[in-house]
Amino acid sequence: MNAHETLSTSVASLSGIGSQSIIRLEKLGIHTLQDLIFHLPHRYEDRTKIYPISAVYPGMHVLILGTVDFTEVLTRGRSSLICRISDPTGTITLRFFHFNVKQQSTLSSGTLISCFGEIRNGYRGLEIVHPEYRVNPSPDEITENSLSPIYPLTEGLRQASLRKAIKQALSRCLEQEQELPDYLPEAVLSKYHYPALPQALQTLHAPEQSISSEQLQQGHLPALKRLAFEELLAHHMLLVNNKVAYKQWQAPFFNVNKTQQQAFTASLPFQLTQAQQRIIAEITADCNSHQPMLRLIQGDVGSGKTIVAAFAAQLAIDNGFQVAIMAPTELLAEQHHQNFKQWFNNDPSTIVYLTGQLKGKKRTAVLQAIADGSAKLIIGTHALFQNSVHFNKLGLIIIDEQHRFGVHQRLALREKGQSAKQRPHQLVMTATPIPRTLAMLNYSDLDISIIDELPPGRKPVTTRVIPNERRAEIIAKIKHWTANQHQTYWVCTLIEESETLQCEAAEKTAEHLKESLPNVRIGLVHGRMKTVEKEAIMHAFKNHELDLLVATTVIEVGVDVPNASLMIIENAERLGLSQLHQLRGRVGRGEQQSYCLLVYQPPLSDTGRQRLGILRESNDGFIIAEKDLQLRGPGDVMGTRQTGQMQLKIANLHRDTDLLDKVQETAQLMMTHYPETIQPLIERWLGHRHQYAEI
Ligand code: ADP
Ligand code: MG
Repeated sequence: MNAHETLSTSVASLSGIGSQSIIRLEKLGIHTLQDLIFHLPHRYEDRTKIYPISAVYPGMHVLILGTVDFTEVLTRGRSSLICRISDPTGTITLRFFHFNVKQQSTLSSGTLISCFGEIRNGYRGLEIVHPEYRVNPSPDEITENSLSPIYPLTEGLRQASLRKAIKQALSRCLEQEQELPDYLPEAVLSKYHYPALPQALQTLHAPEQSISSEQLQQGHLPALKRLAFEELLAHHMLLVNNKVAYKQWQAPFFNVNKTQQQAFTASLPFQLTQAQQRIIAEITADCNSHQPMLRLIQGDVGSGKTIVAAFAAQLAIDNGFQVAIMAPTELLAEQHHQNFKQWFNNDPSTIVYLTGQLKGKKRTAVLQAIADGSAKLIIGTHALFQNSVHFNKLGLIIIDEQHRFGVHQRLALREKGQSAKQRPHQLVMTATPIPRTLAMLNYSDLDISIIDELPPGRKPVTTRVIPNERRAEIIAKIKHWTANQHQTYWVCTLIEESETLQCEAAEKTAEHLKESLPNVRIGLVHGRMKTVEKEAIMHAFKNHELDLLVATTVIEVGVDVPNASLMIIENAERLGLSQLHQLRGRVGRGEQQSYCLLVYQPPLSDTGRQRLGILRESNDGFIIAEKDLQLRGPGDVMGTRQTGQMQLKIANLHRDTDLLDKVQETAQLMMTHYPETIQPLIERWLGHRHQYAEI
């Protein structure tokens, strides 16, 4: 059998794998032997040494050996079997919620017992709930020679059977050297002192005796580093590959009309910042080419990305092409619609608005206008990319607040609006500054521009961290604010997972505020309201017919009301820093000094205090994002939608930042010298997820 045959053999060929197991393995994305041997342990259990009871503390997974002091059944509350054991250094309790009579009798006083489990704080001191245990073990049964790998599982699949299957698969793939090709070039392996692939896999699945669990956790082990490197490389290459493939398509060539650009600039009520001008020039150059533009604009909240998008849109429309602008929420799409109608006041009929809420005749008419080309600028939510939408001549796609959409969605969108010959240009905008690690894994398919300058005259928002108990002061502040003709946001954040409950909570808050602030005009927006209602309220707030807007986090992105200069965020401790920064970005847009009050529910944990402190100290989204990544991990920085897609098998974005430069360098090397290994490498690590690369 040659290499590919062994690797691509179905897991069904392994002994002990029946039809049930096959289905369960498929749920983990495992179909072939290759999938199996690249299903890596996410942690290890150490049964190689016995811990003295006095040396254990909560959170440790440890092996202990002791004798039973007593065993009893507790019937108060949820019934449980309690077994107290001791060694010469101390005592600990074992607790079983599922137990039987026989079990109780085998755990009689004086019995020698070895057990393994997680140490927790219980009612009577330290305890282990449902430990694995052995009664009267023989000396060679107690400890194991090496660490036990623990694999990610799925419902119904047992650790032991997965271990057995992986062991078999590994030995079959390692039988002959050529059966498991190493896609990392020799030169790379020797440069970074990485072990060969078979050895690396062997080490992770069955660590040698000399390897400790600390070594594995800290991630300095060459075998682990090598595989983490390879995984990051695969993710990065997928995007790079995608970019290269996309750039090979033809794109519409946009001629530049300087006079028109100047006229547009002159019509604006403000002067463009240097940064805006620079990026408009970059975009213009990108589109003045037969290659499709793939550009990401990163700019902090309020840096003025929308107007930059408007210049791009104008360029496309002038050249007779359609432009699609996609926003993550209806509120934001509506706001763009208003803005663009104002900026392009010459012919508003060519600007249409499409969301999922639009129904019936109106919808048909909009779809018709998009299909026959009379609509030039199409603004909407992700509804824009449904099957029923047919563009006539789409030349440019603009995606606003991209971090709300996943990388997969973005790649899928590229297929929309493509004709046999041409692909549209793409402009992606985000206010979430992206730390370098994440950029490499999420945005390597794009060229990146950064707006590193805010419009002049902006005053940094003053941020205060306040406990919920001081509500009376907050109410007084709103009164004072309203009396001075300024407006306020009150943001109710998710305590409840359910959207309905969240909206109800916002309704209650609005009621209470109305009672305590009878002279303040209060409005409410939340996700459950009809678009027209939301629109009416937002409109009223914008026109200062309302003083206080109570809202759920629907207002997080994009909403622009310069006279609103006070923001109260409830339960701030529960939100990600980047999200808080986004919310705060709704104020500080006008002339007056703005304030943001982060209200928390005491007691605040140490991390909680630290996190809110970061926000109080900094108004710089980039610094905040870096710190957020350090404190909470990538899922929170990127927004929940992307967490699922960021699942890495072995690489760890905190730990492995030292690999970034190496990954980028190696990607270059592989594209130049080993292009044929790129696709198999991606497939090996990303399995079926690689399919969207085939544009
Ligand atoms: P974001 O980058 O967060 O999307 P917006 O595009 O919504 O920011 O712009 C925020 C506000 O700043 C808007 O009211 C916009 O009209 C205004 N603005 C944009 N550019 C400038 C500029 N160069 N000078 C002054 N105000 C500007
Ligand atoms: Mg914006």
